[in-house]
Amino acid sequence: MPPPTSPVPAIAVSRTPASRLSDFSLETTPFSGVLSDHMVLAEWSDGRWEAPRVVPYAHLPLSPVVSSLQYGLSVFEGLKAQRGPDGRIRLFRPALNARRLARSADRLTLPALPAAVFVESLRALVREDAAWVPACGAGALYIRPIIFSVDESVRVAPPRRACFAIVTFPFGTYYAAPVRAWVAERYVRAWPGGTGDVKTAGNYAGGLAAEREACAAGCDTALWLDGPTRSLAEECGVMNLFAVIGDTVVTPPLAGTILAGVTRDSAIQLLRDLGYRVEERPLPIEEVFAAAGSGALRECFGTGTAATVSPIAEIRYGTRVATPRPDDGPTIATQLKDRLTRVATGIEPDPHGWVDIVE
Ligand SMILES: *Cc1c(COP(=O)(O)O)cnc(C)c1O
Repeated sequence: MPPPTSPVPAIAVSRTPASRLSDFSLETTPFSGVLSDHMVLAEWSDGRWEAPRVVPYAHLPLSPVVSSLQYGLSVFEGLKAQRGPDGRIRLFRPALNARRLARSADRLTLPALPAAVFVESLRALVREDAAWVPACGAGALYIRPIIFSVDESVRVAPPRRACFAIVTFPFGTYYAAPVRAWVAERYVRAWPGGTGDVKTAGNYAGGLAAEREACAAGCDTALWLDGPTRSLAEECGVMNLFAVIGDTVVTPPLAGTILAGVTRDSAIQLLRDLGYRVEERPLPIEEVFAAAGSGALRECFGTGTAATVSPIAEIRYGTRVATPRPDDGPTIATQLKDRLTRVATGIEPDPHGWVDIVE
């Protein structure tokens, strides 16, 4: 269901009397360790959203019976604001996050937010907390929008009241160390008709046991197979999966069980711009192992907003190990990460019109 269109409301701002910014070093606080000074809030009731407002960051008073806590009626987004060498702050393709949040919300019978209202709320918040955006090349401001039920009832039903909130936090650049991925055999992340293609809180809750198992096996993250056949590689942890086999970059298709990552979509386009052949098609895990055996598996990597591109050093499946063998010189994952970062920060031209400057 497309979000209803409506005029973009003015976003009222109530400013904190005392910024906490000087208490921290933007570049060294741990990921989500410190939330910035302000947040966005809006409530939905009687079938209507009130105008979002920017307010000082604070805890929310919630009844323990709200259905977001009881039944997981909660969806979220993740994106970044980054500073370019010109000092200007840029959002990356926020309209895609708006659309995805609306789809996620609708899947859980939560109210969708009009895209223009979503984007304007983001911009108002980032403008207010602009001082929290690290310098160019020194990190980013991570933006976390959520929509969740605040219906105070243990009945299982579409909510009558919901809340939209956005919080942000700064994080420094971090080196995404190559990960070891553990093929999950006991757990499934997504299944046809399920919620794997939307960003619900419950998807992440359901994935943690496999991540724990992966860590216990000496790996860093789970590699998910499809539910029905347990033969197709789908995603890597909470990232989209890419494999470079011979001269082709392969990524699983958006056919209902894969989350449509903004980074995934951008990566496909940029890889094609760089001259690589990219195929969106089912990726059998046995093909990955056969390619590793023959030496054709050059690289595997995951894509997602936080790390952008994360190389996968090896994939373990039971007792077998597949190890990609990259060519000498900069890997495709590195080239892709550099290009993405340079476009998103305005160092390179933005031929696809992805960058949204916050004035
Ligand atoms: C959010 C998410 C991604 C990455 O999406 P981006 O828009 O690129 O950040 C990939 N897989 C899953 C399961 C996700 O939840």
